[in-house]
Amino acid sequence: MTPDPTRPSHRTATPEPCIVPGCGGDSVRHLALSEAKRAFPLLPDQGRRAPLCRAHYKQWKKGTKESRDLARLGR
Ligand SMILES: [Zn+2]
Repeated sequence: MTPDPTRPSHRTATPEPCIVPGCGGDSVRHLALSEAKRAFPLLPDQGRRAPLCRAHYKQWKKGTKESRDLARLGR
C-alpha cells in the first residue's frame, strides 16, 4: 500500500457515515443494529453495528425512552 500524500498518515480511523438513509453524517456512536432498529425500523440490514451521528443518536435515545414508557403503560 502506498501512503496517500494528500492525507495525514496518522489518521487511520475514518468515522463511518451515519447508517440512517439519507443522512451520512459522521458517526459519534455505534449501536448494535438490533438496538438501533428499535428507534429506526427502516434501517438497512448491513452488518451488525449501526453507526449513528450525533443528531440521530439523540433521536434514538428519545425514541427508545418513549418506547420504554409505552411498555410501562402496557401498550
Ligand atoms: Zn444521522
